[in-house]
Amino acid sequence: MEQKKSFFRAYLDFNVLYKILIGLIIGAIAGIILAASGVTALPAWISMFGTIFTRLLKMIIIPMIVGSLVVGASSVSPANVGKIGIRVIIIYLATSACGVIIGLIMANIFRPHAALAAVEALASGAAGKTGSSDPWSVITNIIPTSVLTSLVNETVLQVIFFALVFGLCLSFLKISKDERIASAAKTMYQIFDCLAEVMMMIVRGIMQYAPIGVAVLIAEVFAKNGAKVAGALVMVTIACFIGYALHIIVVYGGLLKIYKIKVGKFFKEARTPFITAFVTRSSNGTLPTTMTAAENLGIDKEVYAFSLPLGATINMDGTAIYQGVCAFFLVMSCYGRGLAIGEMGMIVLLATLASIGTAGVPGAGAIMLAMVMQGIGMPIAEGTVLAGAYAMILGIDAILDMGRTALNVTGDLTCTACVAKQMKMLREDSPIK
Ligand code: ASP
Repeated sequence: MEQKKSFFRAYLDFNVLYKILIGLIIGAIAGIILAASGVTALPAWISMFGTIFTRLLKMIIIPMIVGSLVVGASSVSPANVGKIGIRVIIIYLATSACGVIIGLIMANIFRPHAALAAVEALASGAAGKTGSSDPWSVITNIIPTSVLTSLVNETVLQVIFFALVFGLCLSFLKISKDERIASAAKTMYQIFDCLAEVMMMIVRGIMQYAPIGVAVLIAEVFAKNGAKVAGALVMVTIACFIGYALHIIVVYGGLLKIYKIKVGKFFKEARTPFITAFVTRSSNGTLPTTMTAAENLGIDKEVYAFSLPLGATINMDGTAIYQGVCAFFLVMSCYGRGLAIGEMGMIVLLATLASIGTAGVPGAGAIMLAMVMQGIGMPIAEGTVLAGAYAMILGIDAILDMGRTALNVTGDLTCTACVAKQMKMLREDSPIK
């Protein structure tokens, strides 16, 4: 009994990052061994441990967004909110659009595609999820007609919109001259502050479980895919990862240089959230780590408390690159041709919007890919060749998701640092000044 207790303690005390990395390696090795011995699917009772991890992350998403965004928006002083908000949103959108363009360039260079026969064999596994095809309705749909319905249906963009409006109004009421209103607003702020703190605590708990969840999910990916259609998928993976690397070097490196931020010092601090995002595949799950990095970078809390929760949900540069590469892969695999210029333009617009609407949880980007395909007039209907190709992408999603999430999180931190620098909101002792 005594020994068991101390093992548990030792487990809790061991650095969570290393624990998850070890889970990843164990999962990969187990998956390869399983695939080599002809086992392609894990028994349901084992795969349950992976599902539990994904569900736990999904569980926290809505309360996490509400808590952190209301607190974030209401912590910004009314004098700064407009200036910070506009700058953050513009830089987030611009970097995401660059991401899709880089993705499309990579896809055109590598031209990843699979043979149709191979695609057809997998067709039955396709999810066939589709979303809205009209980009303008994507914009109007951001405004909820019923807040409760948005919360219940987990319509992320609508919840973000309302949480921001709510938080902004709260920040004005907090400094009201009317004592009654100011004190009520402060109480309300404390309630949301507590909600945000509780959510952070739950996330830390989930991260203690993550090594087990990650091991199982990775074992599944390796067991399922084995050598099957490996070539095409390796090309997709290479195109995505070179795109991710280019984005870091060209877009983030360029931005940091333009804003005269010390690149080396910045990346030294950005390394921890980068690795955490890589192994957890969740921008939201990484949020506490990203916040700590921002604090260590000497960024004013007023900026990052607002921009990082927002970025974890709406700024997804890695997801944008992935959308560009995968849309090309799907069209090339199923129609044997590349993308027309008009289609590429549409993909840039749709994928930028899709990356905003992608929740910061594992695998969310893959669902949004279906929306992008619907938008360019190639809906993923069940049983079609396109659905088969889409299922293949879903098969390697865990691997692609690692890279794109790491990029998503690095993007949030980069943009936050740039806006803070521009607004002269870096602390005196900031190492990146
Ligand atoms: N997993 C990603 C994130 O949390 C979202 C995605 O699936 O693209 O940032």
